[in-house]
Amino acid sequence: MSESENIIDNTSKNEVLSNTKQSGVGDIYVQDVHKSFGVTKALDGVNFSANFGEIHAIVGPNGCGKSTLAKVLSGVLPIDKGKVSVLGHFPTSPVMARDLGIATVFQEVMIADEASVVDNLFIGSDDFWYKSLTHREKIKKAEELMEDLVGEYIDPNTLAINLSLPIKAWITIGRAFLRDNTKVLILDESSAALDFDSTERLFKKMREFRDSGMAVFIVTHRIAELIRISDKATVMRDGVDVGVLDKNDLNEKNLLSLMTGKVVSGEKSKDVALQTKSDKVVIRAKDLVVWPESVPVNLEIHRGEIIGVTGLDGNGHDDFVKILAGVQESHGGTTEVLNINDKFVKYNTLMEAKELGISFVSGDRKKEGILPNLSIYENMVIPLYRTTSRAGFLGFINWLELNGVYEWELDRLNIKTGFKSDLVTSLSGGNQQKVMIARSFGQHPKILILNDPARGIDVNTKTDLYLHLRKYVEEGNSVVFLSSELEEFIGLCPKVIVFRHGSVFDIFENEKVNADTLLQGMFGQTQGLGSTSVSKSNNTSISEKLNDTNTNLRNVDASDKKIIKIVDFDKEKKLREENILKKIKVKSF
Ligand code: ADP
Ligand code: MG
Repeated sequence: MSESENIIDNTSKNEVLSNTKQSGVGDIYVQDVHKSFGVTKALDGVNFSANFGEIHAIVGPNGCGKSTLAKVLSGVLPIDKGKVSVLGHFPTSPVMARDLGIATVFQEVMIADEASVVDNLFIGSDDFWYKSLTHREKIKKAEELMEDLVGEYIDPNTLAINLSLPIKAWITIGRAFLRDNTKVLILDESSAALDFDSTERLFKKMREFRDSGMAVFIVTHRIAELIRISDKATVMRDGVDVGVLDKNDLNEKNLLSLMTGKVVSGEKSKDVALQTKSDKVVIRAKDLVVWPESVPVNLEIHRGEIIGVTGLDGNGHDDFVKILAGVQESHGGTTEVLNINDKFVKYNTLMEAKELGISFVSGDRKKEGILPNLSIYENMVIPLYRTTSRAGFLGFINWLELNGVYEWELDRLNIKTGFKSDLVTSLSGGNQQKVMIARSFGQHPKILILNDPARGIDVNTKTDLYLHLRKYVEEGNSVVFLSSELEEFIGLCPKVIVFRHGSVFDIFENEKVNADTLLQGMFGQTQGLGSTSVSKSNNTSISEKLNDTNTNLRNVDASDKKIIKIVDFDKEKKLREENILKKIKVKSF
């Protein structure tokens, strides 16, 4: 099907873009499945159909029922009504699902912290084949599998508590790969905790599985990823399937119209974030070139402002915040911050940024944050060495002062640590992340730049973090908050800037900060450019250029063109990441 003017979802009475009406035809199908939790209708009559030899994405906004559907297919959750069929069978228990060859990697990273890697891999596998393996053979299998998946050697006897979140995620994925009767593989947000290279390795495995004739289901909210990997996608909204997209129709535009519904609700955000910004600009980007070919960015951030930054994967929003933090070099333009004498000064490096009161928290602990060979304590206080040590040597550090900071920050973010001399890697991934955040707060910066800080931390800590951030801006500081989870902005950021193609695409403020509108912006469907932030001199040129880009995109009729562009993007992104790795000047200190 060519790209039609309107993708009409199957909640509409008219034309139907989906094969769901004939569901029941595939090797695997669900028909009119209902599942409620109390008053919540998690699944409200969902239908879909998939085949062996295909990678099938299940996509939709947060809370639309994707994980519930994955659990139903895995025999973990009984349903209230409807039919599920995997080659004519209806899995009604996990054991039955396993015997049918269904292997599921659930969204929750389920790991027994006190057990070893090998025990975690073979947990609950009580079938004959596993029983016939000696411990030695299991160790060997665990070694080989983990090395293959993680890309580095992992000692199978290590206790899981000592492992980082990505490695734990690999163990849960590994469990599904251990079995040799797998016919259906279900991955629920399995790439969420993985970095770029790991995601690539996972995709390679998925393609191998598909090519050997298995059915692979991927549940994900990462749009660029799913377009790249999937052969077909079922889009869900509010517990029902609203459409199916085949490879040729699988593009951003179609996904967007199905995910948000044809009529964009335009409903007021329930929770408009409190505006605390003053008139005073404290940090600004002038003609900042994020990618060599991208439109320069002009942005001013005020005292007391908390500004959200987002975009689809690989659109340069992360490059932008890294440049703003001095971690990465720009391709032109300047970053300036107000110093204590109320004068704007340029800065280029992380050290300069730090001295001028800017602090950075990275979501990618492995690459930019944690120093794995140092203790929890050292990881937390290391950036303070310079401010508290007169001679600059460790021996002269005012340990007493640092101790105070450590205790206070521990308490503030409620971090569960062992002894503070323990290696930081003895903490769980979420707690490592809390150390990173505590470290930043501990420096008492005027400006905090956070790159997806909430990745891998639990809900309570997330809520805590938001409270701290609100309080921090109310005290007259400023925050730049990058997140890939749109929901994080709601109620937190009165302003969100959306990146596309390495530049600011649109700016949303107040009640416009809602998931629907932001999603449209990320997909390049809006162009309101909020009022204040883009400086006047450049406003026109940016708008003009953006309009150009838009028109070009609209004029290419086939959706294929857009896909080609996205594929190029990925290649570009990889090249860029390689360059960046070479370029990172100072690690995080
Ligand atoms: P998704 O994976 O698409 O984000 P889920 O399938 O996890 O969504 O959840 C769908 C809805 O069902 C949500 O409103 C969620 O809060 C609710 N829900 C899921 N599991 C449970 C549960 N065990 N108890 C109560 N409500 C649940
Ligand atoms: Mg889910």
